[in-house]
Amino acid sequence: MSSSSTPRQVAILGATGSIGTSALDVIARHPEQMRASVLAAGSSVDALLALCRTHRPDHAAIGDPALFERLRDGLADAGLATEAHAGHAAIETLAASAACDTVVAAIVGAAGLASTLAAARAGKRLLLANKESLVLAGTLLTREAAAAGAEIIPIDSEHNAIFQCLRSRDASLDSGVRRIILTASGGPFRGRSRAALETVTVAQAVAHPKWSMGPKISVDSATLMNKGLEVIEAHHLFNVPGSRIDVLVHPQSLVHSLVEFIDGSTLAQMGLPDMRTTLAVGLGWPRRIESGVAGLDLLSQGRLDFEAPDLDAFPCLRLAWQAMDAGGTAPAILNAANEEAVSAFLQGRIGFLSIPALVEHALSTLPHAAADTLEALLAADAQARHTTCTAIAHLPHV
Ligand code: NAD
Ligand code: MG
Repeated sequence: MSSSSTPRQVAILGATGSIGTSALDVIARHPEQMRASVLAAGSSVDALLALCRTHRPDHAAIGDPALFERLRDGLADAGLATEAHAGHAAIETLAASAACDTVVAAIVGAAGLASTLAAARAGKRLLLANKESLVLAGTLLTREAAAAGAEIIPIDSEHNAIFQCLRSRDASLDSGVRRIILTASGGPFRGRSRAALETVTVAQAVAHPKWSMGPKISVDSATLMNKGLEVIEAHHLFNVPGSRIDVLVHPQSLVHSLVEFIDGSTLAQMGLPDMRTTLAVGLGWPRRIESGVAGLDLLSQGRLDFEAPDLDAFPCLRLAWQAMDAGGTAPAILNAANEEAVSAFLQGRIGFLSIPALVEHALSTLPHAAADTLEALLAADAQARHTTCTAIAHLPHV
């Protein structure tokens, strides 16, 4: 983008969250090149209003329709021309509208699928953080994005690293790649046995050692389900079979992922663990732009360690691999059961080890069907949520 071209118009869906605020931080550094034209959130209306006062978007949308008046009146009181919207259909419409050319998909969970798909179908540049939409409907989403000419730039740090490494060759995506190696920090409970995980608390689970993130992905990192979702995400984004995707635990979180090529070269992307780097890649691509993140001082970091993941203590990673291999609706079932289990854990209703148990229960009791339509995937999602909530109601409370 040259400074003389029209500024990039960016819609940030999930603006009040961890990714959303990091995206706004990067955008605010480049007022000539880009602006936040649409801000959307689920229910944090006061946080959304505060962001509107700072970033002055053309449109603001709140997912919960009951909060419409509060949003509209708050915008008027602040003297802003920002137009108020409410409801999930409004977020979908805005994501596909002329109000933006770029969409940061940063809503958490399957709730982000509809707006992510709408942006893809409208041919937007899609900065995709919402990994659950790829797990639930990866084949459909990547197909529709390709058909509409929507460019997907992965924001998840591992996939953003792979995206960068793959640009080192002039070839179709699959050619020359022997293996994709996703790194994992190991989360707050790395090195613990399964028995030692029995009594961990919510506060311990969300205290990630390296990344500052929203509560759901923080719990997913503690169970290693996050890495499982990312294996499925990588499979869809880069069209690589699961047999050529490996996971390597790297506690320093400085190597964000690696690609091994058939000539024996392995390329890694490195940097401090700060999502503003990946967002700057997505916002500026193919240019490199300032993100506010310092460079990596390897001398002061001292060392890089690598180890194998412990699939016995952290069965969620194995379950995700199994769901990917099973295909069809299995990843949708995995994702939905996990979302319900994580939500119950965050509310203090179940223990940590019940999360993998509930996901396994949903995967083993529900039928895995072919998944060629959105309806079939959403039906599997709903059924898995129902099965999991019923199972939670029968679990002994913690
Ligand atoms: P978060 O909990 O901090 O923020 C979530 C955002 O989504 C909030 O703005 C919230 O208002 C909005 N939201 C929630 N439910 C909604 C709904 N039904 N409708 C509309 N908006 C809704 O989460 P986060 O950590 O920013 O993560 C967002 C997504 O990015 C997740 O899919 C996560 O896996 C992915 N991701 C995050 C990070 C990270 O560093 N935080 C890294 C990689 C990937
Ligand atoms: Mg990640």
